[in-house]
Amino acid sequence: MSKQIIFTVEDEAHIQQLIKYNLEANGYKVLTFDTGEQLLEECKRTVPDLFLLDIMLPGVDGLEVCRQLRQNLQTKSIPVIILTAKNEEFDKVLGLELGADDYITKPFSVRELVARVKALFRRVNLSNQNDSEIISYGNITIDCSRREVFKDNKLLDLPLKEFELLKLLILNRGKVLSREILLEKVWGFDYYGETRTVDVHIRYLRQKIEDDDSNPVYIETIRGIGYRFNDKGAVNK
Ligand code: CA
Repeated sequence: MSKQIIFTVEDEAHIQQLIKYNLEANGYKVLTFDTGEQLLEECKRTVPDLFLLDIMLPGVDGLEVCRQLRQNLQTKSIPVIILTAKNEEFDKVLGLELGADDYITKPFSVRELVARVKALFRRVNLSNQNDSEIISYGNITIDCSRREVFKDNKLLDLPLKEFELLKLLILNRGKVLSREILLEKVWGFDYYGETRTVDVHIRYLRQKIEDDDSNPVYIETIRGIGYRFNDKGAVNK
């Protein structure tokens, strides 16, 4: 299993290190940012599995970061935990209205932090449980539990990595997934791996699922970023 990725923004260096050290010790991959701007900028290239946002930041504050994440197609359904100091005026309702999933009050114990992150991941995984799901788009059908893919009701010969790549794209249909994220999720490579692996497998997949792989309908290339499973194009087929 590849590691789940967490982006955290926190301007206090020692808290940032505390978060990174302890979540990484629990098997997560953590990218830290000093400002909300930096985090939002990185989200144009890659998206994590969870956000941990401090509220009081120089520049854009955590609530505004949360608001922007929720307005963006790529990040709108990624879980968010807000970090708030006890003496800060924090409107819980506002935070949750902006789309935060949970909040942690500082000072927090390491155990609480890890427990909250784990609990949120569990919640998200429960609501996303689609391993028994059969998904159909146009003339493509994917049976997640049997790991089978059909085109026009004919079984395709898809090796495991191609299957996982297709499944990930379909489950995130409409969202742009960067090469790095696809690599990390499907191959479990480290962040700066060989992203050409992804392109090669996309090419194989297109040869199998597209009617004309030089004019792909299902898997779109998003130049300079990665790929997107186009649910609209598929529905119109
Ligand atoms: Ca702060």
